Amino acid sequence: MVERFQGDVIENTQITKDVYVLKVKLDKNIDFKAGQFVNIEIPFEGGKKQKSYSIASPPLQKNVLEFCIKKVDGGLGSTYLYNTFVGQKLNLLGPFGAFILKDHSNDAVFVATGTGIAGVKPMIEDLLENGYKKKIYLVFGVRYEEDIYYRNLFEELAKKHKNFIFIPTLSKPGNGWKGEKGYVQNWIKNEISYNGHHVYICGLVPMVEAVTKTCVELGFPQEHIHMEKYV
Ligand SMILES: Cc1cc2nc3c(=O)[nH]c(=O)nc-3n(C[C@H](O)[C@H](O)[C@H](O)COP(=O)(O)OP(=O)(O)OC[C@H]3O[C@@H](n4cnc5c(N)ncnc54)[C@H](O)[C@@H]3O)c2cc1C
Repeated sequence: MVERFQGDVIENTQITKDVYVLKVKLDKNIDFKAGQFVNIEIPFEGGKKQKSYSIASPPLQKNVLEFCIKKVDGGLGSTYLYNTFVGQKLNLLGPFGAFILKDHSNDAVFVATGTGIAGVKPMIEDLLENGYKKKIYLVFGVRYEEDIYYRNLFEELAKKHKNFIFIPTLSKPGNGWKGEKGYVQNWIKNEISYNGHHVYICGLVPMVEAVTKTCVELGFPQEHIHMEKYV
């Protein structure tokens, strides 16, 4: 059920040159599923605008929400939230969204670029926390190596859970980069043969559409393709 919440900013940490992690403590618990989002009210010329942000933390914790946000140049909401300080009050509404885990019996492929990682990170944490034994791939596309947010977390999870395969892929790799290079859709095309997988795609529209097209070409049925577009 969608509810209104008041929250206090308890952390605002810049993690790359234009991405920050915001943690907000709510005045009451929120009942949400991994992958869902909330709307945050942004004061605007005497009024308010709502901006949507995926909840980047898993539903284990119900009164503190984490967000992973890109500061867009000239962007109203992302700049306002970037400038919030510890103790600042925010109004939130939610949870919203149908981008949630749909299947618990097949291999799962998660695909994100940039802050789209916020939508899939809690799903992966949720599955691993609950002892999921099928393969879980995370294909995470960013430009540069320093943009691989949550790298330590995913590398630790991959060490601990043999069924979790973390594939960061860089579109602008430096000379020392030994990992995957290029766009996420190319990795999917070259490495995945459809075998009942469900795919969960999160990020900006062109990437979501490119990955969807690739998955359709690989034989994924529409009902196995789940997406959240950051419009
Ligand atoms: C369901 C949902 C969940 C979302 N979750 C997240 C999230 O977890 N993290 C996150 O960072 N964003 C997320 N977004 C995007 C977010 O809602 C805003 O659209 C984004 O923060 C830009 O809003 P703004 O008010 O700062 O910019 P605006 O004032 O709306 O836009 C300013 C200008 O920037 C352009 N622009 C907008 N977004 C981007 C971008 N990402 N990169 C480059 N240019 C852009 C716009 O076209 C416009 O020209 C989500 C969107 C949806 C629909």
